[in-house]
Amino acid sequence: MQAGVRVAPSPLLISRRTLVAGSAAIAVAGCATTAPRPVSLFGAACLPRVNVSANRVIRTIAGLRPYRPSGYRVETQPLDGKTIVHNYGHGGAGISLCWGSSREAIALGLPGHAGPVAVIGAGALGLTTARLLQEAGFPVRIYAKALPPNTTSNIAGGQIMPGSYYDRGAVTQNWLARRVLATDFTRRRMQIMVGDDYGVRWLPTYDEGRLRSAAPNPVFPDRQALPYNAHPFPAENMLRYRTMYVQTGRFLASLMRDIRIAGGTIVVRDFATPSEVLALPERLVFNCTGLGARALFGDEELEPVRGQLAVLIPQPEIDYAYTVRQGYMFPRPDGIVLGGTFEHGEWTAEPQPEDIARIVERHRGLAESWRCGAEA
Ligand SMILES: Cc1cc2nc3c(=O)[nH]c(=O)nc-3n(C[C@H](O)[C@H](O)[C@H](O)COP(=O)(O)OP(=O)(O)OC[C@H]3O[C@@H](n4cnc5c(N)ncnc54)[C@H](O)[C@@H]3O)c2cc1C
Repeated sequence: MQAGVRVAPSPLLISRRTLVAGSAAIAVAGCATTAPRPVSLFGAACLPRVNVSANRVIRTIAGLRPYRPSGYRVETQPLDGKTIVHNYGHGGAGISLCWGSSREAIALGLPGHAGPVAVIGAGALGLTTARLLQEAGFPVRIYAKALPPNTTSNIAGGQIMPGSYYDRGAVTQNWLARRVLATDFTRRRMQIMVGDDYGVRWLPTYDEGRLRSAAPNPVFPDRQALPYNAHPFPAENMLRYRTMYVQTGRFLASLMRDIRIAGGTIVVRDFATPSEVLALPERLVFNCTGLGARALFGDEELEPVRGQLAVLIPQPEIDYAYTVRQGYMFPRPDGIVLGGTFEHGEWTAEPQPEDIARIVERHRGLAESWRCGAEA
């Protein structure tokens, strides 16, 4: 929670305390002759189970997260009469940070500028930068080696919850404060894009590993620690909260549409050197090339963190997501996304059959140990 911010307890928190206290009172009054029945806080203790098996895999994917230990880079660089604004290196959090990071980038680059603007890159960062530039009244041309659906951003599972995007020992306090603002702005922007058009939706999420505190929080107002009998996972310390999930292919396609409707143009072009960038007619250039910035602008700090996913046949009845020891599961209309791996320094963007088999097996084991209806 932010310092100085007080948050009133949500109705769910109040009802949780009431329920827990109530069940204890019943056990005492009944002289403990019968075990207390499990308390379902959400009427959801028995969640539908993901049907996991190797023969339900419809595609496998591998992507390279653009990771920088010191965090994503938003910075201006004057170069031979042009201004380059870097906006790359978002690791495993580019979808969760895109609007906020791009807002930070244009706030750095636009003051004093007049005329058209170039954006290099058509992933989540390039497209959100382009939209915000258009909203600020500037004509935009995007240049990119690859367009959706062939970007890393298309591969992302799409959870709006930044993770795996910096090394705590390598970041500054200033950067930590900036990323809070970037996360917040992205959440606000995604909230007004909820719906089929942009492929954004809210889902309850069961989380074993992160957000250990169940304290009220303005970002996760309904976050709660669940008693063991209120969920089917074979895990202690389960939290439940709601966050947004983005069907990334749909999101990026809709952004490209919006950019074109607003008069933007998109050119397929691969830049090999900064001097090719300097030859562009636009004086202001946003560099949103993700991992490509390593070769293009010589950023040796950027490294790939490979992620592999197995996608299962869609199961429309799965209306929750989970992040637990065995991996994460995000249900999407285009398939049940099972993750995942975090492989530092791995440059091969190809799924490895033995890793995929392990991912599927871990999630299958989880589904098998589902405690649906358990009365422990
Ligand atoms: C398996 C996996 C799961 C993920 N899950 C999530 C998640 O749930 N939530 C989340 O927030 N994030 C997630 N991410 C991270 C997210 O995908 C990235 O942080 C994000 O895609 C980075 O976006 P980008 O626009 O910087 O890069 P990209 O999407 O890679 O786009 C870069 C663009 O620049 C272009 N380009 C590069 N080099 C050049 C060049 N030399 N010349 C011209 N064009 C160039 C490319 O062609 C492309 O158009 C995940 C990533 C992976 C791999």
